[in-house]
Amino acid sequence: MKYFIQTFGCQMNLADSERMAGVYQARGLAEAKFLEEADVLIINTCSVRQSAEDRVYGLGKKIEKIRRERDGFKVVLTGCVTGRALSDKSGEQLKDLKRKMPWVDEFLPIEEVGFETTPLRKDTQHAWVPISTGCNNYCTYCVVPYSRGREVSRPFEEIICEVEELARRGYKEATLLGQNVNSYGKDFSGAKFTTFPRLLEAVCKVAGIEKVRFLTSNPQDFSDDLIEVIAREPKVDRFIHLPIQSGDDTVLARMNRKYSTAHYKQLTDKIRSKISDVEFGTDVIVGFPGETKEQFENTVATFKEISFKVAYIGMYSPRPGTAAAKFFKDDVSKEEKKRRFHVLDQLVNKSGKKKPV
Ligand code: SF4
Repeated sequence: MKYFIQTFGCQMNLADSERMAGVYQARGLAEAKFLEEADVLIINTCSVRQSAEDRVYGLGKKIEKIRRERDGFKVVLTGCVTGRALSDKSGEQLKDLKRKMPWVDEFLPIEEVGFETTPLRKDTQHAWVPISTGCNNYCTYCVVPYSRGREVSRPFEEIICEVEELARRGYKEATLLGQNVNSYGKDFSGAKFTTFPRLLEAVCKVAGIEKVRFLTSNPQDFSDDLIEVIAREPKVDRFIHLPIQSGDDTVLARMNRKYSTAHYKQLTDKIRSKISDVEFGTDVIVGFPGETKEQFENTVATFKEISFKVAYIGMYSPRPGTAAAKFFKDDVSKEEKKRRFHVLDQLVNKSGKKKPV
């Protein structure tokens, strides 16, 4: 029996897929090189944008053809699309998924693939290391708190053991992953309580590991303590991904982001003053409901001021189940969203590399 995993979306999904591969190998299945030779297809979905979901729906024809040719072929759907639908108590979202994807045999919650699973990594130098799952922030556009649930930090010792084991096997680089790494440990109490800077320090101490990165940081939780640790630990990469989402305070408030543009600027100034060779990457959404041309111009001005090396620019699309989809009208036209996308894209191109999505 062979399995094939198709992954959509972010690094968190890539890390989850490596763990799922570990589960299937432990059950005695081998990895299929091509989808056509698989007995089980696992689709790890992303729900951040409509386009990512549409690509999953678009697999239907291909899957139905394989099913006609292969007896017993099974399709498992997991990841954020599944998580969001299973968390909908009315059952409507799951019903909708079943209607759109009648070719799915099983909807698998991603939480069933635990941290304790040994991941099957393809890369032999760099490893993704999850440190937490879920998120408590409820940004109004985002499905993560629904699809992945509330934030749960992974035990400190378990993470360090995994990094030590990676070093023993010759890995040189580790990227610590969480929806908001800066709030790592906040759900621990008593003697277990710890913080992300302490974890980062401990990971840097692992002999053999030469480079440490982390993703993603919420600006509201980026502490002075963390800045100090990055400044004194040469192993920590000097590229920091710090999603801004908008450069306008009214839009940030409607997004339920709990920082202001002034806070974001002060934070990047402070980091630059302590770490002279630092570079910033960001995520930004254009065309959020109600975003006026003037408010977008505030984002443009912020981009000019901060000069990002990389920006993931998303054109807003309502995600089912989120507060923005329920309460705000998607009132910026597609053409205007595209225009705003290109304005920011050009700015990032001028200041460095760009990475639009
Ligand atoms: S911080 Fe906001 S955008 Fe990031 S995962 Fe949590 S809810 Fe989503």
